[in-house]
Amino acid sequence: MTAENNIIAIVVPCYNEGDALPISVPKMLDVLDRLSVLKLASKDSYVLLCNDGSTDCTWELIEKMHIVDKRVKGISLAHNRGHQNVLLAGLMTVMNRCDAAVSIDADLQDDPEAIIEMVKKFNEGTEIVFGVRSSREKDSWFKRTTAHAFYSFQKSMGLETIYDHADYRLLSNRALQLLSQYSESNLFLRGIIPQIGLKSDIVTYARDERVAGESKYPLTKMLGFSIDGITSFSARPMRWIFMTGLILLLIDLVVGIYVFVSYFFSDHISAGWTSIMLSIWALGSLILMSIGIVGEYIGKIFVEVKHRPRYAVSDKLWD
Ligand code: UDP
Ligand code: MG
Repeated sequence: MTAENNIIAIVVPCYNEGDALPISVPKMLDVLDRLSVLKLASKDSYVLLCNDGSTDCTWELIEKMHIVDKRVKGISLAHNRGHQNVLLAGLMTVMNRCDAAVSIDADLQDDPEAIIEMVKKFNEGTEIVFGVRSSREKDSWFKRTTAHAFYSFQKSMGLETIYDHADYRLLSNRALQLLSQYSESNLFLRGIIPQIGLKSDIVTYARDERVAGESKYPLTKMLGFSIDGITSFSARPMRWIFMTGLILLLIDLVVGIYVFVSYFFSDHISAGWTSIMLSIWALGSLILMSIGIVGEYIGKIFVEVKHRPRYAVSDKLWD
């Protein structure tokens, strides 16, 4: 099969992107046009816009765009399920209906030009191509610093992800089929996809500002996302409880010896109110933190055993 027969699907999660879509979709279609002219992909390649239960005009816009150009397809989730779930819904929709899928955000922060490089690598036999940011200068200082802190934190907790890679990547249809076999509910694609293990490569690009609208990922959501990633992939925090216990036991031994010696050789028994209060507080907080970590895992088990469907597709534009 030659490259010009390969159908590429661009999968775009959209949550309240009414402002961004009129700018970003034409750019994506333009990339598809060029791929076809350069004979790198089929002219039947398409864009799948995945509405994540938006409350603005996003779905109406997608319907209008679909009427004008049939290469714009759409699915709509019945309610907001978050970036990872809607992205999975999109990827599973295009599985077996394309040769490769490229996931990209609706706000064009990830340069769509890099799709051409990704497709070139796919045509050369690479099954997974990760988009990696060469610079984050256009991200706000706060976003950049917190994002990098999260990467380091995740790494120290035993979660291996690709540095400065978000969810901008190409997956071959085979990679999509393998991905479909992961049935966990706590979905962290950045952790799962490097584990699929097919031939992979990276493409670097400069991260830009949002074309329109506000970020849908405030700090609270990012923090939740990071904790989700760690607890879905690593049991290291549990080991930390044990290690903390061990260290406390050693300290206890030293303190015990000191108390014993003072009991026999000291004339006055010190009141020690301050030290007692300090230890109560320190131990209390440690115990609470430890219970919190265990609770995080129990929470995961709770969600997993329920085996709830991860999304419900309510509408589909497909012809
Ligand atoms: N998004 C989504 N559901 C959500 C939040 C975000 O589908 O609940 C989409 C959003 O439309 C965008 C992508 O996920 O296409 C990334 O979101 P955003 O650009 O707001 O995040 P940031 O780049 O600021 O981290
Ligand atoms: Mg963005």
